[in-house]
Amino acid sequence: MVKIEIEGSQLILDTGDITQERVEAIVNAANSSLMGGGGVDGAIHRAGGPDILEECKEIRKKKGKLPPGQAVITTGGKLKARYVIHTVGPVWHGGQKNEGEVLKQAYRNCLDLARKNGIRSIAFPSISTGAYRFPVDRAAGIAIDTIYTYLSKYKGVFEKVKMVLYTEADYNIYVSKYNKIIHKS
Ligand code: ADP
Repeated sequence: MVKIEIEGSQLILDTGDITQERVEAIVNAANSSLMGGGGVDGAIHRAGGPDILEECKEIRKKKGKLPPGQAVITTGGKLKARYVIHTVGPVWHGGQKNEGEVLKQAYRNCLDLARKNGIRSIAFPSISTGAYRFPVDRAAGIAIDTIYTYLSKYKGVFEKVKMVLYTEADYNIYVSKYNKIIHKS
């Protein structure tokens, strides 16, 4: 695990299963349907139970599909986390379709939504790097840079922001990016 303090907030990178995190909100890398799916989305709905999907259905009725880069909040159901923030990352199409900017928006909109709901601890999975095929190395740079910039701007708003990587390989990539961006090494 690596941990750094940024203007009164902790930025943590760790391996693990995000459904087991004891934070106020976990982020779901959902799809635009909000009706559940594979990967981390499926794991969150399985662990959190049916209340999450019920709220997702209500949101679908009111707002329609969730565009990539946007975020919405629901209950955490049976999870340890009180809330789930659902976002949709970009599908990787080779990098010519604004994928980086959309990924940055996804992280930022999750942080905005958390901040506006008074949430002080949040955990993210590696958005878009599974089924959506965004290269992990680039995604890691965007994730860390966006979170770092956000914590530098909104000083002390969050107690902690955690990236929970599912594999050791992804964790190592995130740590090496983190060292480059934050320690400039
Ligand atoms: P996307 O469609 O945004 O690519 P995926 O769920 O396919 O979303 O993958 C996103 C990342 O989530 C991948 O790195 C995958 O290994 C990871 N992941 C899958 N299950 C979990 C879990 N339970 N906790 C944390 N990360 C997970």
